[in-house]
Amino acid sequence: MKINHPSFLPRGFFSRALVSLVAVVAVLLFSATLDKQRAYAKSKFIAIGTGGPTGVYFVVGNAICRMVHKEAAEGRKKGRKHGLRCSAPSTAGSNYNIGQIRAGELDFGVAQSDWQHHAYNGTSKYEGKPFKKLRAVFSVHPEPFQILVGRRSGIRNWQGLKGKRVNIGNPGSGQRGTMEVLMKIHNTTKSDFASATELTSSEQSKALCDGNIDAYGYTVGVPNAGVAQAADGCGASIISLTTDPIKKLVADNAYYAFAVIPRGTYATTRRDVKTFGVKATFVTSAKESEASVYEVVRAVFENLSDFKKLHPAFSRLQPKQMIEEGLSAPLHKGALKYYKEKGWK
Ligand code: GLU
Repeated sequence: MKINHPSFLPRGFFSRALVSLVAVVAVLLFSATLDKQRAYAKSKFIAIGTGGPTGVYFVVGNAICRMVHKEAAEGRKKGRKHGLRCSAPSTAGSNYNIGQIRAGELDFGVAQSDWQHHAYNGTSKYEGKPFKKLRAVFSVHPEPFQILVGRRSGIRNWQGLKGKRVNIGNPGSGQRGTMEVLMKIHNTTKSDFASATELTSSEQSKALCDGNIDAYGYTVGVPNAGVAQAADGCGASIISLTTDPIKKLVADNAYYAFAVIPRGTYATTRRDVKTFGVKATFVTSAKESEASVYEVVRAVFENLSDFKKLHPAFSRLQPKQMIEEGLSAPLHKGALKYYKEKGWK
């Protein structure tokens, strides 16, 4: 059927209208895509690697995200928009986090100061593969290295671990690395133990209380819910670590310091426990943008008193120590920018 062209419309009207319509729709679609792209560029998701769900790193990562989101909400009211969204999943720990930052899978991570040092300098387990783009952001709480022993294990010191079932920690965790360092300086090998298990930090206390292992090593802030599960829950105790090789280790390496777990911390801490420890540190890559590191740092330090309330291990945090102690990789430029603005650097 043929439709006659209405005589009151000029010739070619329909085809011209169709072309204009297509053009208008195309322009609309194009600008909508541009808007969308602009919105994506403005909002960025950052992922922070932490540790086991019962550890303190998990609280560090989630406390940082909380401050980032708090700044986002308050900034929106004042017209200051940073566009960051943050998540802090549980991970295998320090060395896993450093590896994932290097691989570009995580933006930030929490890591022990000894492993930050080794990763940047290419020493210890990073021998021959230094991570020169690793950047320090700030340090957080102190982490004493602790050996928890079962109530009936009879273990009193490092030598007492011989012939026992010892959890040396999951691969990727900071404690696994530090346990290996301790084994090396004491000439202890896995075969000196009845067994060397690789349980994660959230499994080890139950294993100790159930009598499936005799001891475990853990580098963690004080107090810690996971340690309390064994120390308060089934009478496990933390032994002092004061051997000559440990004294030498601390004297030779700036990223270690002697540490004391005060009497009364847990039900079985009847006197001060003398050990050594590291600092928990917050790290990223030089590839992370100056703007995002600046905003994360700003969110934490502008809200430091709120941050400190989120875990008792944070109660003594002070900006001066946080930007100096335990950092061996260079500071990220976004962090440095904020510290300079504050007159701290
Ligand atoms: N220091 C431990 C690690 O590097 C984690 C401790 C924690 O989760 O608080 O893996």
